[in-house]
Amino acid sequence: MRAAVLRRMGAAAPYAQSRPLAIESVRLQPPGRGEVRVRVRAAGLCHSDLSVIDGSRPRPLPMLLGHEATGEVVELGEGVAGLRLGDQVVFSFVPMCRHCDPCACGRPVLCEPGAAANAAGALLDGGMRLRDADEAPLHHHLGVSGFAEYAVVSERSAVRIDPDLPPAIAALFGCAVMTGVGAVVNTAGVRPGESVAVFGLGGVGLSAVLGAAACSAWPLVAVDVVPEKLALARDLGASHCIDAREGDVAAQVREATGGGADHAIETAGSERVLATAYASTRRGGCTITVGLPAPDRMFSVPAVGLVAEERTVKGSYMGSAVPHRDIPRYVALHRAGRLPVERLLTHTLALDDINAGFDRLARGEAIRQVVLFD
Ligand SMILES: [Zn+2]
Ligand SMILES: [Zn+2]
Repeated sequence: MRAAVLRRMGAAAPYAQSRPLAIESVRLQPPGRGEVRVRVRAAGLCHSDLSVIDGSRPRPLPMLLGHEATGEVVELGEGVAGLRLGDQVVFSFVPMCRHCDPCACGRPVLCEPGAAANAAGALLDGGMRLRDADEAPLHHHLGVSGFAEYAVVSERSAVRIDPDLPPAIAALFGCAVMTGVGAVVNTAGVRPGESVAVFGLGGVGLSAVLGAAACSAWPLVAVDVVPEKLALARDLGASHCIDAREGDVAAQVREATGGGADHAIETAGSERVLATAYASTRRGGCTITVGLPAPDRMFSVPAVGLVAEERTVKGSYMGSAVPHRDIPRYVALHRAGRLPVERLLTHTLALDDINAGFDRLARGEAIRQVVLFD
């Protein structure tokens, strides 16, 4: 099959010229026990892929990237109980073993064997099913590796969805929507009339805006440096849009929310933006961090404020999701017109054009771009 393989991190931009993702011929081994083979229909380009390409979040190489994807189950390994041939699935980029302590406690995002497999670049049971033209193994990306015509994944990495959802839309539920809406619904637990400020308006940030609008958050403040993204956020339900290049951003958010946001959601992956988000909350407010800063970045706040002002800082990985519960719910909201995630889809492209797509993402010229496979 054809697949986009990353062999070295930190290539110079523009990627359309340096081509860090090589389109290679890759062999996929048959699914092992508890695994399925999926014909990939669509795969989104996410900032987390870009962070591996530019080396800010190193992963074992060579690796077949792509973690936001959808497709059709075309082969079942031994013992697969939860999926059937022909099922349409969205991938969860954390596999969920269902047996470890976090899984048993209803927090599958923190699955321990899942995290270990993702760090190793392997599938949940440790297998590696990808081989290059020289029969050398390639690492899996977050148990998915969606930038390819087919994927072999653990059945614990796949969630069945409605079969008639268009693939370019369905893919978005695997990362942007699950992460952004989940940060609002699960991690923050926003209630109607509470104020929300979202910092960073990529696919995840705009999904957080959609989620906050669906929860009737008010005021709903959007912050970014790109005027087109701010205009889109206003279209999607933001009551106030703040250009972060101008003036004291935290003061503007506090003014828009009458003293500070109940929930400030940071999706930019910057400890500097996180500090601004924290400074934008009201007494008793909660700061949610969704973006992934480089591993050496630190974040500090006046410790007394956590006590005397009952401020909270919470991390939110993959929207604190329970994927088998949340993805069908968000799809249903989308179908009802309450979660217009199609507005996030700015480009569709062929696998051969994936490097140029990452240039657009790096330059802030795209929200969600999706590779479509025939
Ligand atoms: Zn992602
Ligand atoms: Zn687990």
